[in-house]
Amino acid sequence: MCGMLDGMGKLSTNVGLRVDGIRKLVFPPVCLFCQSPLIARDGCCADCLEHIHVWPRTVCDTCGDVLPEDMAPGPCGRCLQKPPAQQKTHSLFEYNGPVREAILEWKLHGHEAGVRWLLAAAIPRISEHMAADDLLLPVPMPLSRMRKSGQHHAANMCRWLAEAVDCGWDWRVLRRVGEQPRQSSLAGSARRKNLRKAFAVCNDYAPRLQDVSTVWVVDDILTTGTTLHYAAWATRKLKKPVKALSLARTPHKR
Ligand SMILES: [Zn+2]
Ligand SMILES: [Zn+2]
Repeated sequence: MCGMLDGMGKLSTNVGLRVDGIRKLVFPPVCLFCQSPLIARDGCCADCLEHIHVWPRTVCDTCGDVLPEDMAPGPCGRCLQKPPAQQKTHSLFEYNGPVREAILEWKLHGHEAGVRWLLAAAIPRISEHMAADDLLLPVPMPLSRMRKSGQHHAANMCRWLAEAVDCGWDWRVLRRVGEQPRQSSLAGSARRKNLRKAFAVCNDYAPRLQDVSTVWVVDDILTTGTTLHYAAWATRKLKKPVKALSLARTPHKR
């Protein structure tokens, strides 16, 4: 009997390999970022890999901005004067090249494969900083924009991260209040004014967070840090340490 099962196992494996081979002939594997055919590497071609820049580790611990090696982990001059609301800020990639393309594909066309690949690649790094009793809170978009896109991108990102890191996430705790113009259409003080009262936490959730050690406000792109700062500011009512995470960050200074 065992022999027969072994034989059937081998048969199904052979069939599986054949089907896989045929599928690769019909749909040859392509790079998730530039769609060029792939020979060996899984998901990303050598050229794109070269242009994916991981966010440096020599940063100001508080705001996550890059610092010269001898000044890390800060605090940097800006944080000494006016630190953000979060205790720490982590970013995973520089927002340029294939990373930017993958995020735009995800946000504009709903193609998530590139972003999923980036997140999977970053899990070992982010796992160093997250614990099982951490709670991830996605930074919410204004309702009108969420309705238009049909997606809550930061929430999807939290779900994927929480599954991989094995911690909690909840999209209901941090809420958006009112409608504000897009941050990308504003500059400097207008950005800060725009978001000062844009976030709030739902008080009914506070008692359910008793076992949570740290809350994370999570967003896809960090540009000036204003959005994450005000999202973190709103979570102070939860009376938990708060950290911030972005998938990507624009490499220029604030
Ligand atoms: Zn490529
Ligand atoms: Zn700093």
